Amino acid sequence: CGICGVVGPRQATPIVFEGLRRLEYRGYDSAGIATLDKQGVIERRRAPGKLDNLAHDLERHPLHGRTAIGHTRWATHGAPTETNAHPHGTARVAIVHNGIIENFEELRRELEEEGQSFETETDSETIAKMVDLYLQKGLSPRDSAFATLKRLEGAYAVAMIFAEHEGLLIGARHGAPLAVGFGEGEMFLGSDSLALAPLTRRIAYLDDGDVVILSHEGAEFYDERGERVERPIKTTALIA
Ligand code: GLU
Repeated sequence: CGICGVVGPRQATPIVFEGLRRLEYRGYDSAGIATLDKQGVIERRRAPGKLDNLAHDLERHPLHGRTAIGHTRWATHGAPTETNAHPHGTARVAIVHNGIIENFEELRRELEEEGQSFETETDSETIAKMVDLYLQKGLSPRDSAFATLKRLEGAYAVAMIFAEHEGLLIGARHGAPLAVGFGEGEMFLGSDSLALAPLTRRIAYLDDGDVVILSHEGAEFYDERGERVERPIKTTALIA
């Protein structure tokens, strides 16, 4: 339902958590955050119910790292449990997803035949397991993301981070909104400009079918044919 992501020089968990707070108005039944720690290892915390539950979990088990994604979930496939809460992933990749993957059952069967196993009842986990399989086959994070996105049917926005790739955040929009925020040496991803409002006033919206690759330095946009494109940066009104 809500997506927030960040790459930058600061500790990312508080930034992403604040973004999720700003997305609460959309409604949700569970929430979670994943980061890359100093060693480039993916770590995540998830909790059913209110963001306060996630906050308590984060107090007990803090999450360090400068590259992070977070999600507030409004369940469509699978009960609102901790297991089904996003981010989903493996040791290689973590993803958050808004919307519905219509052909997930078919993709799931295909991935199971390739040896991937599933822990959740969500449509979203197929995205993580497909990216993971491409990574296992030796594709780069970028190529794994593009190859996976090509197979997905339905309306979605996704954000992905990759083990051992500090400062890399990939986002995609296909029928569900996604915005990029430009900071000073840091970049943000949000499912709407409200999530990004306290972080930056410089925002670019993905067009439908776009993929964006974020690093500390900026954003590379690709359209639905995979062609490099520019998207205009708009300056939003200051929201307190
Ligand atoms: N279909 C996904 C799920 O049920 C994502 C739902 C959402 O947009 O939050 O986990």
